[in-house]
Amino acid sequence: MSTSAASYIDIADGDWPEGKTCAELVALFDDGRALIAKNQALNPKVRELLAFAERRLSHKIKREYVDHDAIVEARKLGIAGRRSTDDSKMESAIQDLIGEAQALRASDIHIKVGENITHVQMRIDGFLTKPTTWTADYGQRFLAASYSMADIANKAYSPSLYLAARLAPKAGRDTWAFKDGLEAVRCQYNPVAFGITAAFFRLLGTIDTTVTLESLGYEPEQIAVFDEFADRQNGLCVVSGITGSGKSTALGTLITRQMRQEQEDGRRRSYFAVEDPPERRLNGVTQLVVPNTETEEQRETAFAEALNAALRDDPDVIMIGEIRDRITAKLTIRAAITGHQVWTTLHCISAHEVPLRLVDEGVDSASIFRSDILQVAVAQVLVPMLCASCKVRLVDAPADVGLSHQQRTHLAHLGDEVCIEGAGCARCRHTGIKGRTVAAEVIRTDPAYLRFLEQHGAVDAKEFARNRGEPSIADIVVRKVMRGQISARVISKFMSLSDLARHQPSLRVVS
Ligand SMILES: [Zn+2]
Repeated sequence: MSTSAASYIDIADGDWPEGKTCAELVALFDDGRALIAKNQALNPKVRELLAFAERRLSHKIKREYVDHDAIVEARKLGIAGRRSTDDSKMESAIQDLIGEAQALRASDIHIKVGENITHVQMRIDGFLTKPTTWTADYGQRFLAASYSMADIANKAYSPSLYLAARLAPKAGRDTWAFKDGLEAVRCQYNPVAFGITAAFFRLLGTIDTTVTLESLGYEPEQIAVFDEFADRQNGLCVVSGITGSGKSTALGTLITRQMRQEQEDGRRRSYFAVEDPPERRLNGVTQLVVPNTETEEQRETAFAEALNAALRDDPDVIMIGEIRDRITAKLTIRAAITGHQVWTTLHCISAHEVPLRLVDEGVDSASIFRSDILQVAVAQVLVPMLCASCKVRLVDAPADVGLSHQQRTHLAHLGDEVCIEGAGCARCRHTGIKGRTVAAEVIRTDPAYLRFLEQHGAVDAKEFARNRGEPSIADIVVRKVMRGQISARVISKFMSLSDLARHQPSLRVVS
């Protein structure tokens, strides 16, 4: 039975005869169908109502006899999401935009509704597309409609409120189906100055099992660190980065990779995840949901309950979505102390800051610096990759490419493979960029390292790690420039030219 293509007509509204009495027994739709409770076909009031509806709508109503429950359900759906034709059109427009974003492999959609105009942009490979425009009124209605389609949202929509919601396929609404690989869309609506509403839709997908640490952009010696950690029974691995740095994709890939290797070796451990909310489906992992709560206190309690439930289920490996406050920090450390292998993410720009951030979040510094709980700290960024079809080698590039003579000289020292963006081609939508790669630092936070970090701080600890063969994010960026994977222009975001000159001789190139 489909109730999604048509709009429900509420017979309790308006001037329908006996509407209220019959409402439980009949559900009418504007496409000319009526659902009628099975044993009520001969009920005079039902017959009177259908006759009246046929006169009103001037056509014969198609009768479908169903269980009483189906009527109640249809009514509930109809009233909760009663949609005019305009709303249905808006709903298709929302689905079309999300479908388009997915087809373009966009990670986010940005919708900015101003006083007179709406700008819509997508983020593809880390860059925003040229804006398309809508009217302001259409933009505002689009946002309100998207919010009303959400399956998780707790307030009524208003452009003047900070709101969060999630769009996901709903049971019983078969027109609202995502294409393969998309699990949900996380929506954030923010009122900003001058009467503008800025909305941000993030597309959340299933972990693609063909994605590997190598294809994400991790280097062989870094993957070896994860492999050492995989053998451990207990301890903590923290993947850090800023928002949108792909840390939860990396975490999902790490977990599924480890699980797959264990299965191949005939070993099986039990995997649990506690996330608020779960962003991606991880096959083989029991993913516990932290229920939606109103206040921060309730959220902490709900999170603790979910994690305690996971711990009671005898897990070997636990993934905790994100450390974002004292309570998650404390519970994460406790899970690692009590004999579990724990993986989590943290908002942080450097792997060397991770231990310090945990202490800031209220974790006892002795459990970080004088124990072997924290074993691996990672930080990653995503860097745009050059389109292989149209990139240009720096040695062949014309003089006028926006690099100073000094920059060019320094970059030329990095070798003949160094490239910059080309003019663009059909394969990269004329942007010169195709996809993104991870540049990461993966640090063994062993006792020697932690002692050094505690005494000397994060900046010196980075050199300590580099000297023992654990490259920094900037080192990896330089490597990828040397291989022509990413644009030489990117280097200036990670280091100055003098740093480049100083660091270059010590670089060990792995290709
Ligand atoms: Zn291209």
